Amino acid sequence: MPLNLVPKLLMQLEEFHGRQQPCWPTEPYEFIVWWHCGYPASDARCAKGWAALNRDIGSSPRQILAAAPKALAAALKPAVMLPDLAAQRLKEIAARVQDEFGGDFRRALIGPLSQARKVLKQFHSIADPGADRILLFAGITPVAAVPSNCPYVLVRLLHGLERESYGLTYREAQEAISAQVPETFDARQRAYLLLKQHGQQICKRTNPKCDRCPVRKNCAYFSGRKGFSSVSSFNPTFA
Ligand code: SF4
Repeated sequence: MPLNLVPKLLMQLEEFHGRQQPCWPTEPYEFIVWWHCGYPASDARCAKGWAALNRDIGSSPRQILAAAPKALAAALKPAVMLPDLAAQRLKEIAARVQDEFGGDFRRALIGPLSQARKVLKQFHSIADPGADRILLFAGITPVAAVPSNCPYVLVRLLHGLERESYGLTYREAQEAISAQVPETFDARQRAYLLLKQHGQQICKRTNPKCDRCPVRKNCAYFSGRKGFSSVSSFNPTFA
């Protein structure tokens, strides 16, 4: 991989997509609640459920624990497929944060990265990509997080073919960010947000819009596209 290729690609992506901001709460507890407010999870559904939760119930552990399960389910209903289950999950999250961490969940994540990841992954539907995202955007560890729904973007750009498994594709994208994006919160949050935006708008999983792509001249996938077929198949349902 040529030196400084990733920073160059990110600059081109930013010129095209503009500066990006996270559209989710960045405090770890709030993110986990937000993530469970939409199902199947998407930014739009989670935002809709999160807004309804805050309007009708409140999102603090105390407010969620005090709410009747039926009222919680009713608040979430427009944004989730199984509102009773979603309400139960919110109760579990709130109880754990209240009982195990005394309401100060952030403090439990400060320390060795492996330990923080382990704590986060004890929550339902949080895997490594979600744990990395939480730690990066909460300003706890500037980990090389990769958007869980499009780790293939950077791998296509750099290597052409995404890998045969989700895990390998994720790791390859993470290694590229680790190698070429400075280990600061600003730089790694910017990389995450731009790759996410590009994956959602242009470099879609099954039908990338290469003809409209601002980085196609530097894209290994585009260069070798003739006869290309992806070998990866994944559809993650975790953060
Ligand atoms: S040229 Fe195509 S494959 Fe390459 S980044 Fe752009 S959309 Fe994705």
